[in-house]
Amino acid sequence: MPDADTLTGPQLEGWDCALCGRRLIADQSLGTVAWTCVSRTREVELWVCRPLCGEGFEGA
Ligand SMILES: [Zn+2]
Repeated sequence: MPDADTLTGPQLEGWDCALCGRRLIADQSLGTVAWTCVSRTREVELWVCRPLCGEGFEGA
């Protein structure tokens, strides 16, 4: 799973792919990660390309 700290706002909001950063047209859920923001931790669901772009994440 990607580190939430390295993701951009749009990636955390589900607009952009959490892996490659492209704007999502067809998407699928990758799962949730814990994201700590201003001393608050919450679970955010990450979305990725469908079919999976797979850059370094084949079979993940
Ligand atoms: Zn992607």
